[in-house]
Amino acid sequence: MTRSDAGAVAAPVVLYDTTLRDGTQGEGLILSLADKIRIARMLDEYGMPYIEGGWPGSNPKDVEFFAAARTMNWRSAKLAAFGSTRHRANRPEADPNLRELVAAETPVVTIFGKSWLLHVTEVLGATPAENLDMIADSVRFVVDRGREAVYGAEHFFDGYAGDRDYALSTLRAAREAGARSIVLCDTNGGTLTNELVAIVRDTMTSLDADPDAPPVSWGIHTHNDAELAVANSLAAVAAGVRHVQATINGYGERCGNANMVSILANLALKTPQALVPAGGGDLNGLTVLSRSVAEIANVAPNDFQPYVGRSAFAHKGGVHGAAVAKVERSYQHVDPVQVGNEGRLVVSELGGRANTQLRAEQLGHQLEGVVDARELSRLIKQLEADGLAFEGAEASFELLIRRHQPGYAAPFRIVDFTVLVEQRDGRDLRAEATVKLAVDGETLHTAADGNGPVNALDIALRKALRAFYPQLDSVHLVDYKVRILDGGAATAARTRVVIDSRDGTRSWSTMGSDTNIITASCIALADSLEFAIWKSAAELRRRDERHFTTATPPPDGQPETGRPATGDPATGEAAAVDPAAVNPATGAPATPGR
Ligand SMILES: [Zn+2]
Repeated sequence: MTRSDAGAVAAPVVLYDTTLRDGTQGEGLILSLADKIRIARMLDEYGMPYIEGGWPGSNPKDVEFFAAARTMNWRSAKLAAFGSTRHRANRPEADPNLRELVAAETPVVTIFGKSWLLHVTEVLGATPAENLDMIADSVRFVVDRGREAVYGAEHFFDGYAGDRDYALSTLRAAREAGARSIVLCDTNGGTLTNELVAIVRDTMTSLDADPDAPPVSWGIHTHNDAELAVANSLAAVAAGVRHVQATINGYGERCGNANMVSILANLALKTPQALVPAGGGDLNGLTVLSRSVAEIANVAPNDFQPYVGRSAFAHKGGVHGAAVAKVERSYQHVDPVQVGNEGRLVVSELGGRANTQLRAEQLGHQLEGVVDARELSRLIKQLEADGLAFEGAEASFELLIRRHQPGYAAPFRIVDFTVLVEQRDGRDLRAEATVKLAVDGETLHTAADGNGPVNALDIALRKALRAFYPQLDSVHLVDYKVRILDGGAATAARTRVVIDSRDGTRSWSTMGSDTNIITASCIALADSLEFAIWKSAAELRRRDERHFTTATPPPDGQPETGRPATGDPATGEAAAVDPAAVNPATGAPATPGR
């Protein structure tokens, strides 16, 4: 799309989030009532204009959601209740589904109806004419009760392919009954972009040309079965559609829905298209939004997710690394800071000295005088030769550098540990760990049981550290990977353990390597906890700093400097602030917006 396409650019695209309804159709995605409310709040605070909260006719949880929603104040969002057209045999007033939709008391009601004759006759057992009446009656029923009606044309593209004129007549029925947003749904998600655009254009042109046609906002709702959901949504916008339905992170049935995060970033950063929320909303809050929703849904964030994934701006290898060091945008399609993500150099044996140095610089160090770059590079090469590949374990790499930095004090030290594993008479395996730790000049002994040796060690370590570092309560271990480094040595082989950890919106990976898998695990565990403590301490320092700078006005009307650039003022939640941005010498934040 170009700026000369002025007519298309003028009307803003309105985003309609259906994470809480269509998103929850995704396999393995279960949201409690409290989860749904938290996500709805987050979307509202983000500036989402429409939030589809659920299908009150389908389950009691969604009825409860709308009951709770009524008692809350919504900043930007209009809530929508979703449901089907009336049953073939019911009058609208007597239709339980329509009654629930109205009882939800939302300003918006989205009715979906059948566009595809196959579904009308085979699934509903209705005649084509009956289906048109069902659509019209249902839309009119909610419009007469003061609701803004959105009409979702289910299976529209398949319906159009089967019988174009009938598919169009279903839209006319909805429009005449008062629907002012008509959403074309690629429910099976199999339509190719060029076909979809042709159908969208023909549909809009045909209906808009009807005599005395009331204006409607055309919408799109796509699924990702052909991996085209985002592309199809953007192409529909380029063709003139102004209402886009999608879900955060693309959650949804089968291969998912269109991903709202990518749609938002693409429209805001790559097209001149005006948007609601304006400018795409808090674009640099996008990464936090995506990861927070994943966290609430208890789905591991996808590292490879465009724009917001941990690897979305990760660079590996000498050539890329060196090029990125010179010109950051040489291997990136956008600046990661724009979407609240960060660039990352993946440390590996492939990377040369430039990579290592840049990664260390990214960590906010002035290498000169703090850690000698050559010495560091030599050390890393030596460790990697010993099997300590840092790739995928950047938190351990960061700790390695910090430990070489003057003034760094480890928050704790494991003095010794014992792990006992026992299985008798075919009963469940039992593991017990005892650890001795040095913390803050004290020596602590703890013991814990676990369902395995690593679990027991983890519990024992946390038990000892909890009194000193309560923030560790929010740290979860989410994955544990083991790799044998020199397979030829069989059971005497060196083992590399990588542990992935998470707290709220942040995730990190640490590693340990040893011929003994328990020792390797213990090193990786200890690194994970040490990293979490270091991160939260650095964040606290930043908050103090922020407090200080707001409490003390800058002299002579000078603009404030050193203000943390990120963080969501709406939720009060700190964004994933990289503590490395703190100058280690002064404790002051380095220049924001790296
Ligand atoms: Zn859908």
